Amino acid sequence: RKAILEIEHLHLDYRIGGRFCHAVHDVSLTIHSGEILALVGESGCGKTQTALACMGLQPESAHIGKGKIYFEGRELLSQSKQQWNTLRGKGISMIFQEPMTALNPLVKVGKQIEENGRNHGLGKIQARESTLSMMEKVGLPDVGRLYSSYPHQLSGGMRQRIIIAMALINDPPLLIADEPTTALDVTIQKQIMSLMKTLNKELGTAIMLISHDLGVVSHLCDYVHIMYAGTIVENGPVHMILNKPLHPYTKGLLGSIPSYGKKDQRLDSIAGIVPSLENRPQVGCQFYNRCTQRMASCKNISPHATMRDGHMVACHLYPEEA
Ligand code: SF4
Repeated sequence: RKAILEIEHLHLDYRIGGRFCHAVHDVSLTIHSGEILALVGESGCGKTQTALACMGLQPESAHIGKGKIYFEGRELLSQSKQQWNTLRGKGISMIFQEPMTALNPLVKVGKQIEENGRNHGLGKIQARESTLSMMEKVGLPDVGRLYSSYPHQLSGGMRQRIIIAMALINDPPLLIADEPTTALDVTIQKQIMSLMKTLNKELGTAIMLISHDLGVVSHLCDYVHIMYAGTIVENGPVHMILNKPLHPYTKGLLGSIPSYGKKDQRLDSIAGIVPSLENRPQVGCQFYNRCTQRMASCKNISPHATMRDGHMVACHLYPEEA
């Protein structure tokens, strides 16, 4: 299958107190056409920073030191402002956690979807037709009437459907969804997730799904990348990660999901928190302070990625095979 997005050895730093702190460190991943890839980790692990870099939307204080990002074979980081503007929405669309912040409260929701189509070259009539058809595809009822509603007249779930319609009106090959259901209640969360799967199948849109919850994304994605403190610590096909997690952090994330944890006992959760940017270890394993399986060597030697049981893991428990 064709590679849609390729991130190669991406490094993104912030200058704090005179030194560069790694928000994203040597991250590589590839999404192929029609695939759903999940980037999973607690907040503060660099998932959103990675995604924003793919959209050219990283904060001004961030510095991309090394690495390349390719979209359909074209290198993105050297693009002009104009090229970024064309790419956003037509090549890659991104949706965020809180739909209200992405909508203009004063403009009818249908109009907002339509404008996104118009901004990327759709004629007036075509934009209106595509808007109504996309509103139907995302499962909104009575779209003729709903077109003229204002955001505050809709429920949170409906607003997120509007945002998805807006993101997909220009038929982008890739949708990045950053915690798209975190602000919604559990029932609506399930509906939106199942909508994403349907749209992925029907429209062929590849999806990069960002989540702190491995349980939520596991039903949906083909591949999972587990991210911790700016680095990818394990990745592979979702069934392998679920059935045979290797990295202690992945095991911790799985242990805190009811359906994968021990059913009749207290769920394990990982003690401690993700270190802040300025407190990340300069050498050694980033997970050292929280790891129940740490060894002396973990403190001073950074683990390298190795292949084990058909997927990638970076941990000293799995040394490179000779
Ligand atoms: Fe734990 Fe060491 Fe593996 Fe890091 S490298 S996750 S500290 S065992």
